[in-house]
Amino acid sequence: MSRSETLGVAVIGAGRMGADHVRRVDRVTSGARVTAVVDVDGERAEAVAARVDGCTAHTDPAAALAAADVDAVLVASPGPAHEAALLAALERDLPVLCEKPLTPDAASALRVLDAEQRLGHRRIQVGFMRRYDAEYTRLKALLDTGQLGRPLMLHNRHRNVAGPPFFTSSMLITDSVAHEVDATRWLLGHEIRAVTVLRPTPSAHAPDTLQDPQFVVLETDGGALSDVEIFVNCGFGYQVQAEVVCERGTARIGDGHALVTHTAGRWGGTIAQDWTERFADAYDREVQAWVDAARRGEVTGPGAWDGYAASAVCEAGVRALEEGGRVEVELVEKPALYR
Ligand code: NAD
Repeated sequence: MSRSETLGVAVIGAGRMGADHVRRVDRVTSGARVTAVVDVDGERAEAVAARVDGCTAHTDPAAALAAADVDAVLVASPGPAHEAALLAALERDLPVLCEKPLTPDAASALRVLDAEQRLGHRRIQVGFMRRYDAEYTRLKALLDTGQLGRPLMLHNRHRNVAGPPFFTSSMLITDSVAHEVDATRWLLGHEIRAVTVLRPTPSAHAPDTLQDPQFVVLETDGGALSDVEIFVNCGFGYQVQAEVVCERGTARIGDGHALVTHTAGRWGGTIAQDWTERFADAYDREVQAWVDAARRGEVTGPGAWDGYAASAVCEAGVRALEEGGRVEVELVEKPALYR
């Protein structure tokens, strides 16, 4: 397609994220339109497609990707369905924005990396949207100036009001800590080489058998430590905070001080209740950047290698949770396409 044309996007998975991305591409993003919506639940696909003029609904991803007006794919199905969707998109040489995780484990992520390498050029961006959040990008820019010196430690907190009923203890790592894994790699510019998961007494407000909260320690190849408090049934709000401790100072984001009120002898603000609220601007910037890059035939955001590395770290994290102790992360040598 030429740069003046609009990118036709097929959205695979029309659940919470997929439906929000359909709205975003349709109403917020420039240079793109949603031409197809795919969901194994045909009624859901129909309902979401009906919100966009001229958009078709499908239950079969292959039929959607074969349509003449589909130039790119946004994958928002559950993680276990990502590999098939990604391989189908690569087979057609279509640019993809894939919600995290790239795939749920390292072996399937490597199969996706292999397919992209066979293609010979990068086509995949992974939906690690924190890289587009205003506070995270400011923190990254500050660290990159070197003013604070070498980063030594990164403290992360990730709290949700209540986890979904199907959440398992390992999903706290694969679905939630996955974001801190990417943020750690990106902010520090290090790979993660070992994971330890500590298990405090679970909250009485967490469902029975769920290990919530967890305290995860990531060791990087640059000698830094990154710890993550993950607490998905904290009850009071959705909070994502990060503080980097460097040789000459610290920097901290996520305190939610955008609006502070003083009234009736008290001061305070509000706490976001979920990620669609806290990261709304980041998702908007992420999808716009993806569309702009896809129209130029480029990938500028986190790619398949970043998705693979995160999946490998999370896999080690799940082993650390289940078996105890420190688990080393096994990464293959970085292929030339991703250097
Ligand atoms: P969801 O359960 O609300 O929606 C998933 C949808 O995919 C459902 O409608 C389901 O019917 C459909 N589906 C299932 N298998 C499919 C398949 N093989 N092909 C097509 N459709 C299929 O889930 P969600 O919360 O929207 O999560 C979707 C993805 O987004 C997951 O990968 C999740 O990890 C990710 N996610 C990312 C963020 C973020 O902050 N970046 C936040 C939440 C979820």
